[in-house]
Amino acid sequence: MATGDTEIIELATGVYARLHEGLTNAGIIVGDDGVLLIDSLRVPSFARDLIEDVKTLSDKPIRYVVDTHSHWDHSWGNEEFPKATIVGHANCRREMLDPVITIPWREKVVTAGDPWSDEAKTVNITPPNLTFESSLHLDFAGRPIDMHWLGRAHTSGDIFIHLPEDGLLFTGDVAQDRGVPFLMDGYLKDWVGTNERLIEIEFDHFMAGHGPIGEPSAIIEARDFIAELVEGVERAIANGQDRKTAASSVNALLEKRFGGWRGFERVEESVAFAYDQIQAG
Ligand SMILES: [Zn+2]
Repeated sequence: MATGDTEIIELATGVYARLHEGLTNAGIIVGDDGVLLIDSLRVPSFARDLIEDVKTLSDKPIRYVVDTHSHWDHSWGNEEFPKATIVGHANCRREMLDPVITIPWREKVVTAGDPWSDEAKTVNITPPNLTFESSLHLDFAGRPIDMHWLGRAHTSGDIFIHLPEDGLLFTGDVAQDRGVPFLMDGYLKDWVGTNERLIEIEFDHFMAGHGPIGEPSAIIEARDFIAELVEGVERAIANGQDRKTAASSVNALLEKRFGGWRGFERVEESVAFAYDQIQAG
């Protein structure tokens, strides 16, 4: 694969996690007459490699692409699926159509000097063409697939894809297995409540947009991470700490329990962002 080694794990009959270490994961669900994908990855060449992997699992056409949220590394491969229905939350579509959001993101990706930076210049950002507000149920060849929006969190349009009969959940970037999510497009206080609703969903295993397959205990930890971060920032503001002091004090607090997580080095900057957002109310 031009875009690097991936690992495909069969989570249930016909349900696969395609893990890409250090990059973005995708889900693959094979039905009787078509395939449903969860996330289209960062640029078209990554989507094309995903399509090649799908062909090793099924000769059926890809009928649905579900965007867990609007972020480029999950959805900028959408243009490679012109015949599929692209499903996402209404806010995910809104974010993908909003130049105030997409222009800075493209600038950031294009100037990062990554192997995909050049290709990102020409991505035709393709938002979902089937959207929903709270939930969407799909009977996928007899396999129930429930998609839920539980409130704003990592973005305004994060959805969870639940396969109740398989005990599987796809969480996008809201909750990962021992990984710090990107916080700086987030709605920190809303995220706390969204996580409380998320932990009510029953499942045995989950795949996040990044990192390994996790178990329910990891979702509880992910909930605790956001809650402790927000509580820490609120306390720092109440105690009159300035932005910089708060960033280092909350970082030190979180490090005790979460210091070993992927991406922990991002926390201090993220806390400063959270400080501004929470202070602004
Ligand atoms: Zn994201």
